[in-house]
Amino acid sequence: MVETKIIDGKQIAKEFRENLAKKVQKLGSTPKLAVLVVGEHPASQIYVQNKKKAAVSVGIDVDIYQMAVSETQESILKLIGELNEAKDVDGILIQLPLPEHLDAQILIGAIAPQKDVDGLHPHNVGNMVCGLPAMISCTPLACLYLLKHVLPDMTGMNALVIGRSALVGKPLGQLLLQENCTVVQAHSKTKNLADLARQADIIVCAVGKPGLVNGNMIKDGAIVIDVGINRMDDGRIVGDVLFLEAMQKASYITPVPGGVGPMTIAMLLWNVVKAAEGRFSDCKELVLKK
Ligand code: NAD
Repeated sequence: MVETKIIDGKQIAKEFRENLAKKVQKLGSTPKLAVLVVGEHPASQIYVQNKKKAAVSVGIDVDIYQMAVSETQESILKLIGELNEAKDVDGILIQLPLPEHLDAQILIGAIAPQKDVDGLHPHNVGNMVCGLPAMISCTPLACLYLLKHVLPDMTGMNALVIGRSALVGKPLGQLLLQENCTVVQAHSKTKNLADLARQADIIVCAVGKPGLVNGNMIKDGAIVIDVGINRMDDGRIVGDVLFLEAMQKASYITPVPGGVGPMTIAMLLWNVVKAAEGRFSDCKELVLKK
């Protein structure tokens, strides 16, 4: 049996934020993040408050623009235009999901790429794929950072990314490719998930289905990063991976909660600081400075 070690995302994110706070002090000005929230989605309210708390702890100001669920696309576009122009605003984030009458792609596409701290603007996604400096989506960046923490050189590793969303799966697949992994990208139409998983040295699961990855799917010694967040009927929060089973096989694993989640927020703050410095985030720099 392999001795599994837990990748403590909560602690790693705490240390990361402490270092970032020192960087902010040297900036000479206070970075500012504008967060646009439409409607009162309960989970979004919690996420936004968590982001604000973390931002304030490193010295970043946060302005929350809370809008009614009926807010029109035109008025939000107008606000984005004003924030793009505002000299004291470094980062703009639209809290997702949005109400159905709004088009997230259009709204994200209206954010100035250098202020797109969620890394979702097509300009940033394109640059990231080309290996050029870009704002990189926070959750993939968090996964990469946690992986690098235990495996600085991933060259030649077989990596399975489960999920192909624009937010997590797709950008993460690209980042792992740039780390010289051999990447397999699985999704809802993939037929032989278990076989693919058993060949993987690294498994990242970003689906949102509890129990999707079980112990039998994990090769001895593989590294498992669980991105999924699922609220069970009894109120527990679990990931996509059966944690106790995975513990029998994996060399390293991220817990849920306390793994990718806190690191994702830390990466958002990193992107805000990069924006305030007038430089796009670059994950290679991030890893070198660890
Ligand atoms: P999404 O719904 O946009 O995408 C889910 C992906 O899973 C899709 O690409 C789909 O093809 C794939 N999928 C669905 N069923 C599958 C199956 N049976 N086998 C293989 N693939 C399958 O979700 P998302 O935004 O990418 O988020 C995924 C999960 O990660 C959610 O639980 C979300 O809450 C969580 N999440 C966590 C963080 C964090 O900070 N920890 C951040 C973002 C998302």
